[in-house]
Amino acid sequence: NLILAFESSCDETSVAVIENGEKILSNVIATQINSHKRFGGVVPEVASRHHIEQVTICIDEALEEANVKPSDLTAVAVTYGPGLVGALLVGVAAAKAFAYANNLPLVPVNHMAGHIYAARFVKPIVFPAMALLVSGGHTELVYMPYENEFQIIGETRDDAAGEAYDKIGRVLGMTYPAGKDIDELAHKGKDSFHFPRAMMHEDNFDFSFSGLKSAFINTVHHADQINETLDRADLAASFQQSVVDVIVEKTLWACEQFSIKQLILAGGVAANHGLRDTLSAKLNEKYPDLDFVKAPLELCGDNAAMIGAAGYVAMKHHVFADASLNAEPSLEFDWVPDAVK
Ligand code: ATP
Ligand code: MG
Ligand code: FE
Repeated sequence: NLILAFESSCDETSVAVIENGEKILSNVIATQINSHKRFGGVVPEVASRHHIEQVTICIDEALEEANVKPSDLTAVAVTYGPGLVGALLVGVAAAKAFAYANNLPLVPVNHMAGHIYAARFVKPIVFPAMALLVSGGHTELVYMPYENEFQIIGETRDDAAGEAYDKIGRVLGMTYPAGKDIDELAHKGKDSFHFPRAMMHEDNFDFSFSGLKSAFINTVHHADQINETLDRADLAASFQQSVVDVIVEKTLWACEQFSIKQLILAGGVAANHGLRDTLSAKLNEKYPDLDFVKAPLELCGDNAAMIGAAGYVAMKHHVFADASLNAEPSLEFDWVPDAVK
């Protein structure tokens, strides 16, 4: 089984060739970050234009690097949501055209399922599993009783974790996306500000990061007004500690409430070293027998390899699309309790 996978939901154009859903033969990623930096975030029109320019180049490179011809392929998989509609459309159109021209089946993939299945490149997923999905647009705990079944048991009520990182990064004068820079700076500081930890002990699996973001911004602005200089590393460390404490606490509680065999950490923010290390340590202490899989560092951000892994699973469950496939910017997980068991 050889899948050609496409990802274009946000600001990365990516095409990959994946063998049997678990081996990466190629994973070409063209990032547009430099074009969006000066705007402090992703500009949808600019993103679409870049995808159009990059997508065919990425297809050629992915096939060449994998040393695979179109006639060797089994299927084409593509992200059709959630994401920016104009960005998604480019990948969907390219995948449809490629599938049609080469007489290959087309497999529609949910971008968030893709993030989760990035863990597949570390080891097989065992069910029931729980995924902690933390990214630029999502922060959620996803229960997976079976393969290809996703139930959101809790999610953020306002900002996603990555979004909060990017917003406070701007206040610290960092360029978009700021997550990695704050993570690095945090390791040089200490939690001296004790920012709030919203909803940490509430009886649910939901999150909220907008209060933390406001507390952070108010602290910095207040210091500015009285001409006081705050330690940037301590600010970053305090922010990160607050985010990590809440996420880890809620995740541990989910592990207690659901009987699961594996916990998966995935999404762009899963690259955060504070989160990876703290969650590993706490799980070791409280649930030493629970299998913990972290998406590989280089596959936490958007890429087509993860879409190929999720596409392989979807294909096994006979999920196919025809030429009418459209981009779905607000696509959610469809929960099918009675699906293939
Ligand atoms: P979604 O997947 O929800 O549609 P997205 O695709 O835009 O959103 P991802 O590409 O999965 O988001 O992740 C990007 C986010 O991850 C950005 O907000 C970025 O700041 C954040 N991020 C990347 N590395 C780190 C890190 N080391 N620590 C914290 N955040 C990080
Ligand atoms: Mg991105
Ligand atoms: Fe993403």
